[in-house]
Amino acid sequence: MNKCCTNPNAIEGILESYWIDSTSKTNYPSLKEDIQVDIAIIGGGIAGITCAFLLKKEGFKVALLEADNIANGTSGHTTAKITSQHHLIYDKLINEFGMEKARQYAEANENSIRFIENLVKEYNIDCDYKHVPAYMYTQDKNYVKSLEKEVKAAQSLGLKAEYLDNIPLPLPIEGAVCFRDQAEFHPKKYLLSLADKIPGDGSYIFEKTTIIDVESEDPCILLSRNGKKVTSSKLIIASHFPCYDNLGLYFTRLKPDRSYVLALKIREKFPEGTFINAESPGRSLRSQTDNGKEIVLIGGEGHKTAHGENTINHYNNLKCFSENLFSVEKILYQWSTQDYITLDGVPYIGKLTSSSKNIYVATGFGKWGMTGSTAAAVLLKDLIMNHDNPWEQVYNPSRSITLNSTKSFFCRKL
Ligand SMILES: Cc1cc2nc3c(=O)[nH]c(=O)nc-3n(C[C@H](O)[C@H](O)[C@H](O)COP(=O)(O)OP(=O)(O)OC[C@H]3O[C@@H](n4cnc5c(N)ncnc54)[C@H](O)[C@@H]3O)c2cc1C
Repeated sequence: MNKCCTNPNAIEGILESYWIDSTSKTNYPSLKEDIQVDIAIIGGGIAGITCAFLLKKEGFKVALLEADNIANGTSGHTTAKITSQHHLIYDKLINEFGMEKARQYAEANENSIRFIENLVKEYNIDCDYKHVPAYMYTQDKNYVKSLEKEVKAAQSLGLKAEYLDNIPLPLPIEGAVCFRDQAEFHPKKYLLSLADKIPGDGSYIFEKTTIIDVESEDPCILLSRNGKKVTSSKLIIASHFPCYDNLGLYFTRLKPDRSYVLALKIREKFPEGTFINAESPGRSLRSQTDNGKEIVLIGGEGHKTAHGENTINHYNNLKCFSENLFSVEKILYQWSTQDYITLDGVPYIGKLTSSSKNIYVATGFGKWGMTGSTAAAVLLKDLIMNHDNPWEQVYNPSRSITLNSTKSFFCRKL
């Protein structure tokens, strides 16, 4: 029988993301004069920072423009599992997109794990990067078939997926999927390190610089809130929700979805791995080492933004779940954030509209933006440099969307 949640209705943890509280605040300058660069990038989250980093590495002069401080948006409030196991997706992709595009999606995300790992090694980035298996489990018999199908689908795409009857969490389960060789990290440490390498040699990061308009598309002329202009040949919009649309109609095809996270001190040792359940309400678990001490992140309670219950109830539900699973000593932090979900569950990465010549977008990561945005940076770099990229079709923002594939837009459970 479930234990009752102790001390309900109390906010016990610091109301801040652990990632933000455990790193120093950035202090990049704001845009104070008109500038000209090769590529302007709006948004200093994982998508924008990775794009700016990669393009600067290719020799372009870039300007990363951030309205607030970098890495403080959704990327600073995530749970930062680095995985190609994106809930129940591969069986759906094969059925709705076909084998070829499903393979593109699988490869893009697997490639992103290795890409992050290689950057961490190459630049010796101190970001607690760790190899872990990723588990998706169910406690509901009705989901067993879906998990079995997911394993088969993932295997047919070349992913190292296996079906398990048990997982190393103290939970009775009906079945699970395991992807070996996945990862986790401290997202803000990683992003601050990439950001460090952007300014200089004609490239910039500007904070407290909100872009309020794109006055021209050829060349791109961006207007900041304080009236200064950035002129560039190309523009990447990585502002989470696209801040410039030009008939891309993104407001009709992106849905915000909010989730909650608790960071806990528990008495037990947390097993190695990241965990997520298949059913609703969503439960997502991982651990993180903080100065030699283990903390556990428990996330979930996803709901369409502004359609939730009282915020306290969502935190209490997670607290209750945690207390039934572990001996919780303390809630250290608690926070919530939202991500955007596309009509068919696959991000929009590519030209902003089919007629855009110079403007690109990366959005709709559907709560899987660590690998999704890394794939976006590689894909957009290739598009800008006129190189072929094998994942272009599956992510094309102007793809046609079937009625069947939009079902999850209206009733997806996370
Ligand atoms: C609770 C939760 C848990 C998650 N866990 C995981 C996980 O375990 N693994 C995973 O892969 N993904 C996860 N995700 C998803 C992932 O965190 C996001 O997909 C990703 O962080 C989005 O990155 P971004 O760069 O697109 O957006 P953001 O990080 O939000 O960055 C966008 C930036 O653009 C700036 N901006 C906006 N408008 C303007 C403007 N007009 N001018 C200038 N700047 C502007 C914003 O200030 C912001 O800093 C999770 C999401 C949630 C909600």
